[in-house]
Amino acid sequence: MVNIIMLGPPGAGKGTQAKMLVERLGIPQISTGDMLRAAVKDGTELGKKAKEYMDAGKLVPDEVVIGIVKERLAQADCERGFILDGFPRTIPQAEALDRVLEELGKRIDYVINVAVPNEELITRLTGRRTCRKCGAMYHVVFNPPREEGRCDKCGGELYQRDDDREETIRQRLEVYQAQTAPLIDYYKKKGVLYDIDGTGSIEDIFQNILKVLGA
Ligand code: ADP
Ligand code: ADP
Ligand code: ZN
Repeated sequence: MVNIIMLGPPGAGKGTQAKMLVERLGIPQISTGDMLRAAVKDGTELGKKAKEYMDAGKLVPDEVVIGIVKERLAQADCERGFILDGFPRTIPQAEALDRVLEELGKRIDYVINVAVPNEELITRLTGRRTCRKCGAMYHVVFNPPREEGRCDKCGGELYQRDDDREETIRQRLEVYQAQTAPLIDYYKKKGVLYDIDGTGSIEDIFQNILKVLGA
């Protein structure tokens, strides 16, 4: 059993690597961003509440995301491990996660901290395309699909997220610095932080992560 957190700024490649780990390790990815986007698409109360924060590049309130993660972690498929992607993003979220895991008799084994310089993050996010159907990520230059606008994996339509626009991206990077970067120290103190260079090829980064996990 292995419980992992993918930490890093927007565009660092957390989702890309998490999806590869899902295939390799056979444990689920828990992406709060994907869950919130699904709620927005379905027009649920949660989705309506979350959308204005997401479009503004701000964080959705802690109690909202803590609630959805708590419910998700209690499901049976997390028994053999899980990969948290995009959660926690604030100190109060990390503290709430500690309490939830303690109740469930679990703990975090690895926090994979993926570092990429800001200029590169902006290039990655402005060129990101996401599959409407399965959520796979592509990049118009760095990781293009075989057929323009179509997902290699499921044939779904690729779109540009509303928040992957330059003004919103800059706001999200500021939010990361102010609210999420403090988690690096939080997990360093717990002795579970592992730094990964997020530049270079997707495959090389994956190999470096597997080395950390001893997998
Ligand atoms: P995050 O989940 O951290 O926000 P993503 O995995 O969605 O990041 O990646 C952001 C964008 O960067 C996507 O368009 C993705 O295809 C691209 N990308 C991911 N890893 C790399 C890499 N090592 N080099 C270049 N582009 C990458
Ligand atoms: P990225 O990795 O590109 O920043 P995500 O898909 O993880 O994107 O998140 C998109 C948006 O969803 C965030 O900007 C934020 O509004 C919201 N969100 C996702 N996860 C969280 C979280 N843990 N706490 C608060 N808001 C979140
Ligand atoms: Zn797809």
